[in-house]
Amino acid sequence: MSRPTTELAHLFRQLKAPAAAAALPKLADRARSEEWTYEQFAAALLKTETDSRDSHGGQARIKAARFPARKTLEEFDFAFQSSLRRDTVLHLGQLDFLHGKENIVLLGPPGTGKTHLSIALGIRACLAGHRVLFKTATEWVALLADAQRQSRLDRELDRLQRIPLLIVDEVGYIPFDPEAANLMFMLVSRRYERASLIVTSNKPFSGWGEIFGDDVTAAAMIDRLVHHAEILGLKGDSYRLKDRDLARPPAAPHA
Ligand code: ADP
Ligand code: MG
Repeated sequence: MSRPTTELAHLFRQLKAPAAAAALPKLADRARSEEWTYEQFAAALLKTETDSRDSHGGQARIKAARFPARKTLEEFDFAFQSSLRRDTVLHLGQLDFLHGKENIVLLGPPGTGKTHLSIALGIRACLAGHRVLFKTATEWVALLADAQRQSRLDRELDRLQRIPLLIVDEVGYIPFDPEAANLMFMLVSRRYERASLIVTSNKPFSGWGEIFGDDVTAAAMIDRLVHHAEILGLKGDSYRLKDRDLARPPAAPHA
């Protein structure tokens, strides 16, 4: 290795800039053959490193968010889910709701894509540099109940407050006891106008009284949740049954 190359390798290591180090030989060749200015070359080299850091940060945040699967807006089939306007969802993907500390509520029967969309929006947020945490409603309640038992509920809610987006999946799959309903209410009201939530439920708001055990708690919760929120109602058949011919009459039983 020639002297300057050795020295460069050393400097890149000191700067912890492996992407720039790897890109250097090719970029230098291109710069020479295309007669770049020094400034162009410096920009290209530094951009290689920052791009790589951004995407690594994004991947780290996606991992930390603990999504149950990887889903994207690009793979969402809007032709199948015709009750949603594509524009509305793609606009949510621009993350204005996150900057405005607003919520998103996805309501609809099982299999209609609520979890898919919540993950896809969460991944967008991760890639844009925001921290996200995904859990089912049951898991959130367990986490908060644990904190409460250890007398650190307040600190836990504070910690969560600093995460700009929490996803609460599957509200309503299991009814809450009064303690659980209260913890859920605290989570929602603590974040009110301070940080965003994405909430999914298979039950319409009219069924939330049953989930939370009483109509007053449910109404207070819904009030906080929807005051600054985009509510998306998903309809139709489960996407999981898409390739089955639902219109086909059942085969005649063998005589
Ligand atoms: P829900 O949370 O509403 O019960 P999911 O989001 O889990 O439904 O969707 C069930 C499965 O079908 C997932 O694998 C999801 O990726 C897929 N899916 C649902 N709707 C769509 C859609 N419109 N386009 C593409 N995949 C979809
Ligand atoms: Mg789901």
